[in-house]
Amino acid sequence: NTVFLNGDFMHADQARVSVFDRGFLLGDGVYEVIPVYAGRPFRLIQHLQRLQRSLDGVRMKNSYSDDKWSDIIAQLVTENGQGDQAVYLQVTRGVAPRDHVFPEGVEPTAFVMSNPIKPLPESYKRDGIKAITVEDIRWSQCDIKAITLLPNSLLRQKAQDVGAQEALLIRDGFMTEGSASNSYAVLDGVLYTAPKDEKVLPGITRDLVLELADKAGINYREQAVSDADLHRAEEIWISSSTREVLPVTTLDDKPVATGKPGPIWQQIDALYQRYKQEGKV
Ligand code: PLP
Repeated sequence: NTVFLNGDFMHADQARVSVFDRGFLLGDGVYEVIPVYAGRPFRLIQHLQRLQRSLDGVRMKNSYSDDKWSDIIAQLVTENGQGDQAVYLQVTRGVAPRDHVFPEGVEPTAFVMSNPIKPLPESYKRDGIKAITVEDIRWSQCDIKAITLLPNSLLRQKAQDVGAQEALLIRDGFMTEGSASNSYAVLDGVLYTAPKDEKVLPGITRDLVLELADKAGINYREQAVSDADLHRAEEIWISSSTREVLPVTTLDDKPVATGKPGPIWQQIDALYQRYKQEGKV
């Protein structure tokens, strides 16, 4: 497995980062996860735009131009055998003596790896997944894709501990998103997802879901649903680059409506799969 680190391609075993890297000591960095289908990065421009947005959000400079990032990713995907892969890209503020204050004149650490996309269990789409609701304990800039994932990890583990695949986060009585996904609810036939503000990550898959909903004439509103409404929803979904769009059919140990994946999810998933197969990017 080949990785990219600070300008060079190398075997993963050969890649070394200093213990003084601010990513290691302070969680001071941002990242992206880009799906690759049949060797072609999916929605690459959008991911690189979001990377720039995250970097701006934490006052870090971009190591490379979008063209250079595209070249690096293309070469890495080729080295690692094309096919379906998940590219993970991370930029930290670099290596410097530990201090909260930003160092001066330090180059960022840029790291990219890619691994085969693990196929999801077939039951996830056939039967749906389980989710629990938990209090959103994260900070107030969740629109930045920061590597500082301790809250997300704690919440996701809570779900794992009770055999659920995702934790849906409730902030001030309303659902924001999942611990590693955007989230949706269907109420009275209308699709709801939280608006793109500082409480949620602007998901690339979320944008595509809404694009597809628009084309299919599905009514949607970018409006957060309350905890109470979530528990009476007709359908609940999550979306992310690696899990695509998945139906949640059990919430807090109770079936969501009939307990089966809903018709609007089926419509969106079919459109999503067709979009992917047509090799659109
Ligand atoms: N929200 C959070 C907190 C995430 O970690 C992720 C991705 O892993 C998403 C949303 C979905 O974003 P995307 O569709 O760009 O993968």
